[in-house]
This record gives sequence, structure tokens and C-alpha cells, in this order.
Amino acid sequence: MGMGDQIRKQLAAAALKRQLERVSGEAAASNAHKVEAPAEDKPWNARARFEAMPLYQQVSLMRQMGDTLRVQSPFFRVHEGAAGATTTIGGREYINFANYNYLGLSSDALVTARAKDAIDRYGMSASASRMVAGERPVQRELERAIAQLYDTEDCVAFVSGHATNVTVIGALFGHGDLIVHDALAHNSIVQGAQLSGAKRLAFPHNDWRELDALLARVRHEYRNVLVVIEGLYSMDGDFPELERFVEIRQRHGVFLMVDEAHSLGVLGASGLGIREHSGVAPDDVDLWMGTMSKTLAGCGGFIAGCQPLVDMLRHLAPGFLYSVGLAPALAAGSLAALERMQAEPERVAALQARGQQFLCEARAAGFDTGTSAGYAVVPVITRSSLKAAQWANALFEEGINVQPIFYPAVEERAARLRFFICSTHEPDQITRTVETLARIAKR
Ligand code: PMP
Repeated sequence: MGMGDQIRKQLAAAALKRQLERVSGEAAASNAHKVEAPAEDKPWNARARFEAMPLYQQVSLMRQMGDTLRVQSPFFRVHEGAAGATTTIGGREYINFANYNYLGLSSDALVTARAKDAIDRYGMSASASRMVAGERPVQRELERAIAQLYDTEDCVAFVSGHATNVTVIGALFGHGDLIVHDALAHNSIVQGAQLSGAKRLAFPHNDWRELDALLARVRHEYRNVLVVIEGLYSMDGDFPELERFVEIRQRHGVFLMVDEAHSLGVLGASGLGIREHSGVAPDDVDLWMGTMSKTLAGCGGFIAGCQPLVDMLRHLAPGFLYSVGLAPALAAGSLAALERMQAEPERVAALQARGQQFLCEARAAGFDTGTSAGYAVVPVITRSSLKAAQWANALFEEGINVQPIFYPAVEERAARLRFFICSTHEPDQITRTVETLARIAKR
């Protein structure tokens, strides 16, 4: 591609970015139901059209961005088999860095056999809420196993990790309460806080000193206060100093919730997550939240904690009470994955070794890996959406599948490729990937 072409593409990308900024601003405003249509074109005077919604315009612009940059969309790719360290797309095998199958258990023969047995015994669906339609033994077995893992009194499982955060935070807190979360908190945490009606504040990423100062200023104005952090941040691959947050929890009299979506099976010598990594006591954290969709090779979310907490959620959290129980096959498969993780700590060790290898080799090649600690998530920060898209495309052509993250998902200067590493990646797959990327970056 000539220099003129490059400049034209960059100008087009910048124009699109400005348009996107404007449209996302409008979308946010319209979501907040604050925009009053002018009297002459009240929406009900014409046929209601989804295409007129700012949200749809945002989607169209995202598509245009791909066309203008002449990059193939990296989204919604169809995988033709189980995706792990490698995957097959369009009949071709790729080294795969775009999934959360951290311990390679999603297609493990023992795990899938247990899921199949559960289907044969209980059928596909739990078909209704557990409170009214009853339980399947395997749902409680999974919950007890997770409670044992966290050394808590009990645990409750939900059908989605995202819905777990939304319904749990939304149900437990309300007007007059305060929810404070890390600035890089997952969307589900933010949505839960918004649903709750509590005041919501964010503190700078991993900055416990700022959190401490914030609570010193405002704690007394609220009844219940919840602090939410994550065990491993999925955009940057870094983690909080949990013991500092535990100390703040005790001093300010607040609830502490840790989302272990990306740290269970990843941190700690036996994969027990950030609790094992940091050595805090099980009851130093009030809500241990996690997902079954990553290390546990299934789908769903959980909360492990004390009995009163789990009792409240089992009886009154809308996302539990008014939603179907976890499918028996998913409960059985995730329980099998949990047992496998505990029986084979070498999987955790392999994941940690591969993560460190990726981080060291990427840094040695001169890439900006941000604050990644080299556990399962390593970003390569490109600082340009265009570059992230082009590098991801070029890697794909070379048989390597990785997701670019670009504006508006992150700020333009934070655009990146995000590599998810799993225990089943071979060392030479990682070396080949970093070498290929270094070659592409030099072009
Ligand atoms: N919490 C965090 C930190 C996540 O990254 C995710 C999704 N990756 C979720 C919750 C939601 O989990 P699930 O995809 O299993 O619904």
C-alpha cells in the first residue's frame, strides 16, 4: 500500500471516529431517556423504525469503519470445532488466542462425558426456576464444590455470569447505598450498580489509595457500601493488591466483592484464584463471584459467601427466582472441570508458564504489553485502531487468530490486540506468534 493510500485511510478513520463519537454520545443520551424530540417530528407521527435509533447508527458506522479501512471484520467468526489453543475456521487451522478455555477443559473427554450423562439422565433443560420447579442433584453438587473451593458457607449458581453481577448487585443494594468499583470494571458490574439505584462511583484502576481517600470522604453519607474489584482484569491482564482492599474493607465497614471470572484456574499455585495468590482468608471477602464460562468449561455464574447472603439470593434475586435453573449438563460439566483442575494442578502451572513466556517474548520483541502480569491475558498495545485491525488481519492471514480491541470499546490511544493464553498452547506456538507479529510490525 502506498503512502497516499495510508494517509487517506487514516483520514477516513479519523472522520469515522469523530462521527462515532458523536453517535455514541447520542446513543448514551437517548438511552438515558433525556432527549425530547422536537414537536414537529414526534416519533409517533411516523412509522417506528429501528434504523432511526442512534444505537443502530452506531452499528452501521462500525461496519463502515471496517469497509473504509478495508479490513475484514474479526467479529462473529465461525469455528468449525472445539476452540482451544488451536481452532478451525473456514477449513483452515489457526493458533487461537481468542477464547477463555484457560485450562483446555471445554472439550476434555471426561468433562464432556459427564455433561452427556447428565443430559441422558435429566434432559437438556431444567425448564423452570429451581424454587418452583425443583432442583437436580448436580446443581447443588456444583454449588457445594464451589463453596468448598472458596471455603465459604454456601454458594448459588446462576445461568449467566453477566446476569449474576447484574441481578446480585441490583438486588442487594439500593437507594441510599453506594457502589464503588474499579474504573475498568466489567460491564455487568456497572449494569448491576445502575439497576440497583445506589450511587455509583469509580476509583482509578487498581488504585487502593484513591479508594481509601474516597471512602474517607463519603462513607458516612451512605448506609451500605459495596466495593467491587476483579481478580484479574481481562483487558490488561493485571490484578489488584487484594490484601490492601481487605484492609480497607475492615477499616471503612464496607462489603467487598471480587469477580473471579478471569482469575479462577489462573492465579494461585492450584488455581484457586486471587485468594490463594494473595493469601487472604476466605471471609475477608464478602462476595466471591465467578463464571463457569472460562476455566470451568461451561456457562453460568456463581456467588460464594456466607449463609445469609446465599439465602437472600436463592430466595429473592430476580435473576435466580424468575429465571430457569442452570442446565444439568452445564452443572455436571463444570463440576467435572473443577474436579479436573484440582486433580491436575499441572494444568494451572502450564498456563502460568505459557503466560510468562508470552509476556517475556513480547516485551523482548519491543511490544508494549501495558501492565500485564503475564497470567492468561497479555495485550499488545498498538495505540491505533487502524494498526490493531491491520495487525490482527495480517496475523489471521498467517494462521493466527487474535481479537483486536479498538475504538469505541477502548480509547483510541488504548487500542490493542488482546491475547488470551491457555494451558494447552505449546511453547513454540507462542514463539511463532510473537515472531510473526514482530515481522508484521516492521512492515
Ligand atoms: N465478569 C467479568 C470480569 C467478565 O469478563 C465477564 C465476561 N467475560 C463476565 C463477568 C460475564 O461472564 P459470562 O461471559 O460468563 O456471562
